[in-house]
Amino acid sequence: MSIVFKDVTKTYLHKGKEINALRPTSLTIHEGEIFGLIGFSGAGKSTLLRLINMLESPTSGTIHVGDVEMTALSNKDLRIKRQKIGMIFQQFNLIESKTVAENINFVLKAADYPKDKRDGRIDELLELVGLSDKKTVYPKNLSGGQKQRVGIARALANDPDVLLSDEATSALDPDTTKTILSLLKRINKELGITIVVITHEMEVIKELAERVGVMSDGEIIELGDVYQIFSQP
Ligand code: ADP
Ligand code: ADP
Repeated sequence: MSIVFKDVTKTYLHKGKEINALRPTSLTIHEGEIFGLIGFSGAGKSTLLRLINMLESPTSGTIHVGDVEMTALSNKDLRIKRQKIGMIFQQFNLIESKTVAENINFVLKAADYPKDKRDGRIDELLELVGLSDKKTVYPKNLSGGQKQRVGIARALANDPDVLLSDEATSALDPDTTKTILSLLKRINKELGITIVVITHEMEVIKELAERVGVMSDGEIIELGDVYQIFSQP
């Protein structure tokens, strides 16, 4: 699904001071592409990402995901729509007291996924991410790369249209990073899911993204195909 920002801003009020985390931004992320956002810490990358699924609501402007205007949804409809937008995180955010299968089942339950189809869905997801043998294992007994695979399986559980990745490989070593990036590419190709990736790692963007926005101080200061952005002097 496409993602369209129109004149979106986000201002935080912090100790009586306004922080312009996102200055007026219009942006179209195309259906089926892998879009990367890069920039230093504090540039506004997470704010922009969290506006897509409305974990943050904008101060002004409109946000569409597919045909749906996110900024016009009731809380109930927003909750339902958000279940079609998967998200993965740097720290994986798995529930430590639950097994791999239970972590995924938790999301399926929350999304009212048909009860009789949950087990089959879990098997399918674990096969997709190459963890079929880890179903009953607890997160503490997984490597970082395996934890992120569970994070990805969980994010895909409810057949999302969009996957948001918040520094998903930043806690991983370079080799593991490569395997996670190729998994994300495969998901994009095979499932047709639009992926938005934020990272401070240039290599990740070069390897993964088709188009890139470079953020600085709450603005996208450059936008283009990945080879254009990185071939500049
Ligand atoms: P303090 O000077 O009181 O330590 P902080 O910078 O830690 O202030 O921020 C206090 C609050 O402001 C945090 O609890 C958080 O809600 C918010 N905040 C500030 N910067 C960020 C950020 N980059 N990401 C998320 N929340 C932030
Ligand atoms: P990035 O992801 O590029 O590191 P962020 O979107 O986290 O950037 O932050 C952009 C700006 O907004 C920073 O100045 C940050 O401190 C501030 N910020 C982010 N979240 C909050 C928050 N909840 N409260 C106050 N300020 C915040």
